[in-house]
Amino acid sequence: MSNRALEAPHDPSNEAGAYDRFGLFHAALRARFNLLLVVALWLLIVAGSLGWNLHQAERHREALARESARSFFDLLLITRRWNARHEGVYVPVTPETPPNPYLKDPRREIRVDEGLTLTKVNPAYMTRVLAELAAERSGVQFHITSLKPIRPQNTPHPWEVEALRAFEQGAKEWVEFYRQGDQEGYHYMAPLITEKPCLKCHAEQGYELGNVRGGISVTLPTLTPIPWKGLVVSHALVGVAGVVFILLLGRMLARAYGDLRRQAVFDALTSIPNRRFFIEHLVHELRRGRREQVPLALLICDIDDFKSYNDTFGHQAGDRCLRAVADLLRESLQRGSDFCARYGGEEFVVVLPNTTLKGALRVAERIRESVSGLGMWHPASSRGIVTISIGVAEEPAGAQDPDHESLIRRADEALYRAKERGRNRVEVHGTLISDGE
Ligand code: GH3
Ligand code: MG
Ligand code: MG
Repeated sequence: MSNRALEAPHDPSNEAGAYDRFGLFHAALRARFNLLLVVALWLLIVAGSLGWNLHQAERHREALARESARSFFDLLLITRRWNARHEGVYVPVTPETPPNPYLKDPRREIRVDEGLTLTKVNPAYMTRVLAELAAERSGVQFHITSLKPIRPQNTPHPWEVEALRAFEQGAKEWVEFYRQGDQEGYHYMAPLITEKPCLKCHAEQGYELGNVRGGISVTLPTLTPIPWKGLVVSHALVGVAGVVFILLLGRMLARAYGDLRRQAVFDALTSIPNRRFFIEHLVHELRRGRREQVPLALLICDIDDFKSYNDTFGHQAGDRCLRAVADLLRESLQRGSDFCARYGGEEFVVVLPNTTLKGALRVAERIRESVSGLGMWHPASSRGIVTISIGVAEEPAGAQDPDHESLIRRADEALYRAKERGRNRVEVHGTLISDGE
């Protein structure tokens, strides 16, 4: 037995490369495509989650802004009611609180003594004073306004006009975000409904109980920004981690699938395709031969006296011999479309597409000679070395209904004849017609 044959490496992945066209390549492509689909789906989910979170953050911010503006408004309304119930309250006249020139009241000022004069502060004036204090302290701006203002400074801003018109149509609140430079702020406005104490001053403007007399706007000039950077970064991290996980898992699964597929179609001992793969391939090639009107030849090879080889050297030596013959068969294939497989036991098959009987005979002779050329010692055989017998059959070009079982049977009959006629021979099924090859 030659060292070259015994030490020939058997790398199933290389074998798989050679047979990619029989399914492994397409399976790998399909798996890769599916993996990309999963990655795309995952990224879509992460992007959807980011969008949803940004939307929720925006809604949350709006709810927070509305609640705080509403609280300011409600607090103002309560203090105004308290003031109106007392028909105004008196405070000492100071530079900050001079008498209100728009208040028509004979008792607007009361002189208590030489050092103290009190002036009446009605709800509108009190709102203004509180607005100034609030603006100083927290930047929040209140504006009491009306479509018919008594005091010119209370003339509404354009957005307030819009809000006041909406209140006249029945709206209960008006809100909007606005932008000034890179600052985002919030406008809130609610109506002032004419109540009984209000009529004392406002009846002369034609207001009746329940009328919308105006409104108070609350402006929050700085809002907490949406933490979009944090959200984008955290989603990007989760997205990337997920993609890495999917790719790693996909790779592991693809490997496991590849291994399974290889085990299903390759013979474990010799690493060449097995019988199942051979039948699939033969059926496929016969169909192609019929379509393309080309012949196909099949070789069935059987090691001679292999039982006695096993008996002489043991099963492990027998296995090494099988591997050596398989390597030799594989190396003897000359065209890309030629194919060999282990048919079972010590039998091998070779499929030669687009090859006539005469061409196949030449290949078979070459294989037979190479096996005997290995010179593997076989004392129990009459020839003293390991030899092989080969049966050859052909599916001629233009066969109408090519049948793989019949082709195998014919090649097997030829092999039987080779055995009968003394082994270490090639026999052909049918007659050789000179085709000029
Ligand atoms: P013939 O020349 O007529 O083909 O005779 P043979 O002894 O080769 O044929 P036979 O069918 O009598 O014996 C085939 C032997 O092949 C029987 C079995 O021990 C051996 N064999 C089948 N598969 C394996 C295998 O995987 N490993 C080993 N070592 N031997 C195997
Ligand atoms: Mg046999
Ligand atoms: Mg045999």
